[in-house]
Amino acid sequence: MGRDAAVTERRHTTRAPLLPDSARKRLVEDLRRQGVEDEAVLRAIGKVPRHVFVSEGMRWRAYENTALPIGQAQTISQPLVVGLMTQALLADGARKRVLEVGTGCGYQAAVLAEVVHRVFTVERIRVLSMQARETLKQLNYRNIVFNYGDGMAGWAGHAPYDGIVVTAGTAAVPAAFVNQLSVGGRIVMPLGGKGAQQLVILDKQSDGSLSRRDLQGVAFVPLLAGKA
Ligand code: SAH
Repeated sequence: MGRDAAVTERRHTTRAPLLPDSARKRLVEDLRRQGVEDEAVLRAIGKVPRHVFVSEGMRWRAYENTALPIGQAQTISQPLVVGLMTQALLADGARKRVLEVGTGCGYQAAVLAEVVHRVFTVERIRVLSMQARETLKQLNYRNIVFNYGDGMAGWAGHAPYDGIVVTAGTAAVPAAFVNQLSVGGRIVMPLGGKGAQQLVILDKQSDGSLSRRDLQGVAFVPLLAGKA
């Protein structure tokens, strides 16, 4: 009886769960208010079913504007950060071929696949790479190519890229990223120490150097060397 009472009470105090489509629309409006202005990016976030990328136990939170655990001590990025990074990548030039370092569950890769021609994504944790492949196959993405490997070395086989998105933090830009980026290409990545980085935009100049612009503080999991 006590248990029934608790259930009843919870029913009355919890906000009614929204269906994924409505929840996603609400998320898009939140992101618009928080600085994501690129309509193509908003459309992509409005389309990609984020709940499919998290475990069943996490689905009810999939459209909250927060990072969530995806297992293996890793996270699915906060939607706002995905939006800002994708928007920054697309601004000031066409980005056709994009390298993503840190596939994770594949959510950012799906958002990228909606707005660029081809996405090359690298993940160092085997089970995550395999799960992401499966999820993105089920969602019918045909313009994402996967690599299980150490993304600190980029992915030389498909270089050069006109954009690189890094979804794990590191103190210095790995040389491979610069080498595999075309002139006029752009890297968007978190740069800095453990758990507290600056989201930066790095543009490759004709002399091979990088210009840097800081966007905002972020907290990504670390970019780690080697495979797991
Ligand atoms: N892009 C994901 C975020 C994943 S979290 C999303 O859409 O939500 C960052 C991911 O980077 C983790 O899965 C982690 O394993 C991976 N990672 C860390 N160091 C890496 C490296 N050297 N090469 C490839 N992936 C790496």
